[in-house]
Amino acid sequence: MTKKICVALKDNSYDIVIGSGILKNLGTAVKRLNIGRDAVVITNPKIKRLYGSVVEKSLKAQGLSVVFLTVPDGERAKSAPKAFELMEKLARYDVFKKVFIVALGGGVIGDLAGYVAAAYKRGIPYIQVPTTFLAQIDSAIGGKTAVDVSVGKNLVGAFHQPKIVFSDVAVLKTLSQRQIRNGFSEAVKYGVIRDPKLFQYLEKNYARILKNDGAALTHVVAQSSRIKADVVMADEKETLGIRVVLNFGHTVGHAIEAAGRYKVYQHGEAIALGMRAAAELSRQITQCPAKDLQRLNDLLTAIGLPQTLKGVKLSDVTRLMTHDKKFISGRTRFVLAKKIGSVKVVEGISSERIETAVRGLY
Ligand code: NAD
Repeated sequence: MTKKICVALKDNSYDIVIGSGILKNLGTAVKRLNIGRDAVVITNPKIKRLYGSVVEKSLKAQGLSVVFLTVPDGERAKSAPKAFELMEKLARYDVFKKVFIVALGGGVIGDLAGYVAAAYKRGIPYIQVPTTFLAQIDSAIGGKTAVDVSVGKNLVGAFHQPKIVFSDVAVLKTLSQRQIRNGFSEAVKYGVIRDPKLFQYLEKNYARILKNDGAALTHVVAQSSRIKADVVMADEKETLGIRVVLNFGHTVGHAIEAAGRYKVYQHGEAIALGMRAAAELSRQITQCPAKDLQRLNDLLTAIGLPQTLKGVKLSDVTRLMTHDKKFISGRTRFVLAKKIGSVKVVEGISSERIETAVRGLY
């Protein structure tokens, strides 16, 4: 069954469409949007080989023209030089055309293609066709686009909302188990911050999700997308302090990821460790019940996400944490759980206390 969620914004509202085996219907959905005639699909060679022809056929069947621009696989493609290279190619191609961009891939492609769409001609329409679990439940929604620079990740970017997010959970079958677990971590986060029913569903169905069950994945992607959409609708440009709840587990998680130079832990794995540390702080500070924290730790363990922190130094993690943008003007700002399904933003937790919580992960 196909599910549709509307991201209702002042300007630029759009739908998130979720289902299993729906990629072949992409053309029909895009045609209805009336955003252009000439699709420029930004992707990488691996994803093009897997899903390029379905996308191409579906768009062409609606009378749209299709060209592919590929970048190498991996985070390194999410760079300013690559973005400008793509824009040069786009400008050369864009003669007597009505161009729109299709971001076909995971979070790396989504952020890069979204940034190209935001910057080229001061913004052209684009659509998100996320192909990883993480991208479907998180990065493709909300219009945050970015590229990395040598000093740090996501430092150059823009808010630019897509015209549609088209999530076919059947494409997740070709992901590795590690990639599935990686996205799963964010789904757990949604359960903790907003949705005890989703959390319970994950506890009961984690094995089905790990086995790529279409119905279970559709449910989880839809529920998670709904939460992300709700938060984005309440705070589109991250100016009201509402969107910050999405950072549960991320302050410590980002620091762990960076301390391992993005090689030791993938994003979701680092976030899982960050959530374990946040759980310990929640026990002490927001009096989160011990049984809820146990459920969180047990679920992360059942999914196969890391239980202990290895291969990165504590001093690097704590140093990097103070550079995190979620720390406002030197004061620590943490999202802590009050119970499963409800969180609170707490400021001014001492660095010793945070360090002790991180030390507990080793
Ligand atoms: P990714 O895009 O690098 O994809 C992971 C790997 O899976 C890649 O090798 C990719 O080629 C491959 N792949 C993608 N789809 C596949 C499929 N269906 N089958 C087989 N292989 C497939 O990584 P990711 O985890 O999707 O995204 C991480 C990026 O997302 C980071 O750059 C992060 O900064 C960004 N992000 C952005 C936001 C946002 O709000 N914009 C939020 C979270 C993360």
